[in-house]
Amino acid sequence: MARVSKKNRQRRNVPAKADSRAQLTDAVDDLFDQLLAELWPALRSDDVLKAEVATARCLAVGRLLGISQDRSDSIFVKMATQSKKPEDAALLRIITLLCSPAVKRSASRALADVTASGVYPAEWVAQVGRAAPVQAWLRDDTFGDEEMIVVKFSYGDREHAFSVHVDRSSIPLVDFITLITDTDDLVGNLEQPSGDFKAAGQISLAEARRRLELALANTKPDRELPHDTIALLPVFRSRLRRLPASGEQPAQVYTAADRAAAVDEFMKSPEAADAVAADEESTRFWAELLAAFSSRLPDEPPAQLGPLTLEFMLTSFVPRTYVVSESQRRHARPAVSAWARWSAAYRGLDEDAIQYLLSEVPAALEGFEAAYDDPAFAAERGYTADLAVRETDVVRIGEHAVRRQFALPKPEDRLPDGESDALDVADPVSRRVYIEAEFTDCEPGKGMAREEFLVAVHRVIEELWTGEPPATWEEAQRLLDSGKNRHDVIHSLVERSHRRG
Ligand SMILES: [Zn+2]
Repeated sequence: MARVSKKNRQRRNVPAKADSRAQLTDAVDDLFDQLLAELWPALRSDDVLKAEVATARCLAVGRLLGISQDRSDSIFVKMATQSKKPEDAALLRIITLLCSPAVKRSASRALADVTASGVYPAEWVAQVGRAAPVQAWLRDDTFGDEEMIVVKFSYGDREHAFSVHVDRSSIPLVDFITLITDTDDLVGNLEQPSGDFKAAGQISLAEARRRLELALANTKPDRELPHDTIALLPVFRSRLRRLPASGEQPAQVYTAADRAAAVDEFMKSPEAADAVAADEESTRFWAELLAAFSSRLPDEPPAQLGPLTLEFMLTSFVPRTYVVSESQRRHARPAVSAWARWSAAYRGLDEDAIQYLLSEVPAALEGFEAAYDDPAFAAERGYTADLAVRETDVVRIGEHAVRRQFALPKPEDRLPDGESDALDVADPVSRRVYIEAEFTDCEPGKGMAREEFLVAVHRVIEELWTGEPPATWEEAQRLLDSGKNRHDVIHSLVERSHRRG
């Protein structure tokens, strides 16, 4: 079974880095010239899809030069108001579909100006963005790490499809998008397994929207993606709005009870016997971690495990979240291997796939060892280690981490005093010392003596740290949303706390 590892796949998709900034700029210049040469004929043709995609590819060039999307979109808006030709009107109309609300307003105004001067877009432009969804398919990979969702659309009698590759190993993220302009063989191809992917099954358009909405929302523009995917993302976002609203939970949702049941079943299984005999407590610890990680996605079965998920979990999630004892560390390999073997057999994977998954365990654990000893990871797990042992829902653990990192900033955001980098946030005395230093020169609020002020600051910080009462963090979030920075939010919370007495 030939498999492409995550690292290799990323290497394949990401364009090679140019040796110097100048070379990069030259390469982008060439690409831009080529894309512009394709843009104008596409805008003059009567092919809606071609015009849309050619525009999107040009708009995405700014990203390669580190220009923000809004700025680069605005440059195109300006460009399209110069020559007063019908293709300028077409370009502006397509920009209104693909860009942010702010650029959309200026593009709409520019379009109104262009038409006011008597230049109208061709008739087909009215169809832009109005592709009709036809059908959707889902392809899972052998291990459940990734999925590929294909959605077919039509512009009149011309069909096209988008294939969206989603990585589920951390949170669902878009890895790449491919445009399929020739759909003649699409169904035939989808019925065949391809690489790690199984044969596709048809899903409802609403189901496709539910899965894709989440992945698209998680895929932020700073993610390193192939240029064509960056270009196709806004096109596909506009297509997604054409699909029927999903509005509901996935068909199958797994709970904490399901995860606990999976751990119990594993502990009694023949696959776990040797590991349990050697160290029962540590085997259970790892089984609970592995099952808990599935809680990040409501539809992820507790026994789900593939090479990519394993790698992410061991090299990122666990070292950032949990304190692992010496004996648990020593027992990691037998325990994780036993779980991998059990989960693969439980899901009915063939021996070839089981062996492949097992062969990935040592490298993932090596990565874990290095990550666990990294001071940055150690600092991060200080925020959640005490909760993580009893909280089995990793989304909740993440919420606690965000709140606590507000109460006491991460090392890179702390006072530059050279001492607070090594602060043990889990220790209440250390928290006190840090906060004292941060607020010592501050002006106490109205009617407050300095001593009183510092007592109130400590109270607020501890309320944020523990999450009790919840109203303190809710108020903090409200103030943050209104644009205040962390330090000023804490001042406001202190005044509020003081007023209440
Ligand atoms: Zn202050």
